[in-house]
Amino acid sequence: MTTPHPPTLRFAPSPNGYLHLGHAYSALQNERVAHKLGGQLLVRIENIDLDRCRRDFEAAIFEDLAWLGIAWQEPVRRQSEHFSDYACALEDLTDRGLLYPCFCSRTDVARKVDGARDWPRDPDGAPLYPGTCKQMSADERAQRLAAGQHAALRINMDEALSVAGMLLGWREYGEEDEARDVTAEPALWGDAVIGRRDIPTSYHIAVVVDDHLQGITDVVRGQDLFNATSLHRLLQALLGLEAPNYRHHKLLRDKGGEKLSKSTRAKAIRSLRNEGVSALELRRRLGFA
Ligand code: GLU
Repeated sequence: MTTPHPPTLRFAPSPNGYLHLGHAYSALQNERVAHKLGGQLLVRIENIDLDRCRRDFEAAIFEDLAWLGIAWQEPVRRQSEHFSDYACALEDLTDRGLLYPCFCSRTDVARKVDGARDWPRDPDGAPLYPGTCKQMSADERAQRLAAGQHAALRINMDEALSVAGMLLGWREYGEEDEARDVTAEPALWGDAVIGRRDIPTSYHIAVVVDDHLQGITDVVRGQDLFNATSLHRLLQALLGLEAPNYRHHKLLRDKGGEKLSKSTRAKAIRSLRNEGVSALELRRRLGFA
C-alpha cells in the first residue's frame, strides 16, 4: 500500500524581477491553504530561462517572503539544477512517438498562417501550430539534427489524446474552497511546444515533473494558468503521474484593469517596504488579516 502524501504546496516564482503585489497575494493564498490543510509549503525557483533569471532576484525573493512573514520548508528546489529530470521525461515521450522535433521559428509559424482566415489560436492567443514539421520524413529530421539545427519538441496532440484517453479532468477548488470537477481540454493547445528550442525544457514539462517529484498535492496559483492545467493534466496522464488538486486564484489588476506583472511595472513589495508599509498592513490590504 502506498502512503498518501501529506498536504504539500509550493509557491513557484521566477527570479526575473522583484516580487510584486500579485506574487504576495499568491504566496499568501498558498500559506492560507497550507494552514487550512495542515500541510507544508515549499518554495520552488522556476529559473529555466537562464538568460532572464538572476541570482540577485532570487535572493530578493527569499528576503521579501521572509519579510512578509511566510515560512517555507527547506530545501528549495531550483529548476536550473534539474534539467536532467526534464530531459528524461522528454526522452520518454519522444521515444513513444508523442513528441516530434520542430524547426520552425515563431516567424515561420506566423508566416504560414498569415492570410488564413480565422486561424485557430491557443488560450494564450498564439496561432495553433500548422503541423509543418509533423510531416517531415525521418531522414530529413535526422539530417537536420545531425547538421546541428536546433529543434523544439512539439506534442503530437492527436496521438497523445489517443494514448491518454479523451476523458481527463481535475478537481478545482478555486479561491472559495468549493470543489468542482473540470474537464481538461488539451486539444485547445494543438501541437504545443513541450521542449523549447532555446532551452532544454519548457515551463509545462518542468512544472509537471517537479510537482510530482516534490509530492505536491495542492497547486495554488493564478487564474492565468487555469487553461495551461489542461496541458499539464495531459502530460501527467502520459507520464503516469498523479494529478494534484488545483486552486486557481484571482489575479490582482491595476487601475486600468491590466493584470499586475513585471512588464506593467507593478510596484515591487520591496518598494512598498521602503515606503514604510509594514508586512501586517500589506497582508491586511490583500485581505489576509
Ligand atoms: N513560475 C510561474 C509564475 O511565476 C508559476 C507557475 C506555477 O505556479 O505553476 O507565474
